[in-house]
Amino acid sequence: MEKEIKCHLCNGKAKLKFEELKLDNGRITIKESPYYKCSKCKEEFATSGQMQELSNQINTKFVFKRPIINAGRSLAITLPSDIVQYYKLKKGEKIQIIPKNQKELKVIVQ
Ligand SMILES: [Zn+2]
Repeated sequence: MEKEIKCHLCNGKAKLKFEELKLDNGRITIKESPYYKCSKCKEEFATSGQMQELSNQINTKFVFKRPIINAGRSLAITLPSDIVQYYKLKKGEKIQIIPKNQKELKVIVQ
């Protein structure tokens, strides 16, 4: 990972920094999540590689077990509040559910 890159806003110097991300009421900690901060315009941003890395880490660490509950005639799975906040989900919002195989369902947030 580059220690310094050009800021995409002002072409200033953006330095590599790390922050600790806490998820699920602090039960899940992603240590040293990398991002860049511009020393000129103070913009903070992550590169697509950094975002990919974070989502890989979340995929492996951000695992919750939820029971299936009744909701009228359907079955429902509730979402933990940290997931709701993280993905900025709102009631009534549409999500896509894609069956991957008999053991996996993929949920896509738009
Ligand atoms: Zn800048």
